Amino acid sequence: MKTIEVLAVASEIYPLIKTGGLADVAGALPGALAEHGVAVRTLIPGYPAVTAAVKGARTVRAYEHLFGGPARLRSATASGLRLFILDAPHLYARPGSPYADEGGKDWRDNPQRFAALARVGADIGLGGATGYRPDIVHAHDWQAGLTAAYLHYDGGPRPGTVMSVHNLAFQGQFDAALLDDLGLPPQSFTPDGVEYYGGIGFLKAGLRLSDRLTTVSPSYAAEICTADGGMGLEGLLRGRADRLTGILNGVDTAVWNPAADPLIAAPYEAENLAGRTADRADLQHRFRLEPDPDATVFGVVSRLSWQKGLDLLLEALPALIAEGGQLALLGAGDDGLQRGFADAARAHPGRIGCIIGYDEATAHRIQAGADALLVPSRFEPCGLTQLCALRYGAVPVVARVGGLADTVIDASPMALAAGVATGVQFAPVNGPMLESAIRRTARLRRDRAIWKQVQANGMATDVSWRAPARRYAELYRAVIAERGG
Ligand code: ADP
Repeated sequence: MKTIEVLAVASEIYPLIKTGGLADVAGALPGALAEHGVAVRTLIPGYPAVTAAVKGARTVRAYEHLFGGPARLRSATASGLRLFILDAPHLYARPGSPYADEGGKDWRDNPQRFAALARVGADIGLGGATGYRPDIVHAHDWQAGLTAAYLHYDGGPRPGTVMSVHNLAFQGQFDAALLDDLGLPPQSFTPDGVEYYGGIGFLKAGLRLSDRLTTVSPSYAAEICTADGGMGLEGLLRGRADRLTGILNGVDTAVWNPAADPLIAAPYEAENLAGRTADRADLQHRFRLEPDPDATVFGVVSRLSWQKGLDLLLEALPALIAEGGQLALLGAGDDGLQRGFADAARAHPGRIGCIIGYDEATAHRIQAGADALLVPSRFEPCGLTQLCALRYGAVPVVARVGGLADTVIDASPMALAAGVATGVQFAPVNGPMLESAIRRTARLRRDRAIWKQVQANGMATDVSWRAPARRYAELYRAVIAERGG
């Protein structure tokens, strides 16, 4: 079988630079795809964290003038990833996050910064990096959305194109006056091109002009075709539904492995959960929870934002406590939510513990020590924390939306009788239904035999990248075949 060459275009890649799940996907897919005859190279911006981590990069192309300054396209290998790095100091050499300054304000020139990434992605796609011509260009999220537009409007033979949406809430919508500045021709400013509600839509352009579209779960793929979940793009997506596929994410099962996790107090395996008891005690201790063996310890590892539904959990806390539950929450984000959980911890010492911040080690300890992991998201494209929870034997308690609906089997009477349940789901997503899910979980845990079975089923679930990678490989082959390759 001929190796397929794929150029991925992404604004983040784990472990070099990460703000969310996109980085995990961009970092994990290349390795998983190698087993399927797919060779991936990834184009990323040369942020300070990237240029500092990458040694021995080779310049493969120079730009005298790329959106306001000189730039070099460099090729390198780092952390096992084959990379193209867009070294453009006037665009990327600055402190702060990839998208915003240290005060959290989006960089004013984000349209130029990410148009540059897409422009160079298109150039590589057209053979502009000496000796390399990919079969497929795979763009991730709005930051790479214009890649397909440049390839389309450049005209001439081009590689196949795939656009992936990791979260439709972020669309990259900018002023129409930038059209010329961004190197887009006047004829591109139509509903069939880059025009979107009177402006330029980066994600919209990618979704309109790519051969195939993917998102990160089958349920989310269906939801984004509806007025409720489409965030303005539902018409376009419905019209292209035959081009749209939902492929679940996986997790890195070497990083998330309870049998050999250096970040947790005691390792354990599915066949013997003895270590988990120590991890649970360790978690209670770290979060200053009472060392109560009967309490159901609920964990949360999350961004604190409206999407994640944690305001509903604040509402449900009295029910959680009344049920004899405890909460260990790790998260950062909205001020109001941070304050809400900090206040709750003060009001209920020993029952509610929270750590505000981003901390990988604590995330692992929650997965290893919590009885159940709460994910009450209003929408969730895929969700990674519930996948980690399955692997760690923390029973996921999730809203029945998006990827959460697709990855957890609710402990309904039928599923319990059939011995296949892996967690608890609730719908619709509101405070009372979350409360009832919390009660149901606490009751379930009181039946030790059933609880053990649910935990064991979760731990036996394949949450690796194996199956998803196969699906991406099939998708690439389909694109090549339909383009006559
Ligand atoms: P999203 O990408 O919408 O934030 P996901 O569930 O897809 O949500 O991915 C979140 C990832 O970030 C998971 O790997 C999770 O463990 C991690 N994470 C989220 N918040 C924190 C935190 N406060 N500390 C450590 N890890 C976190």
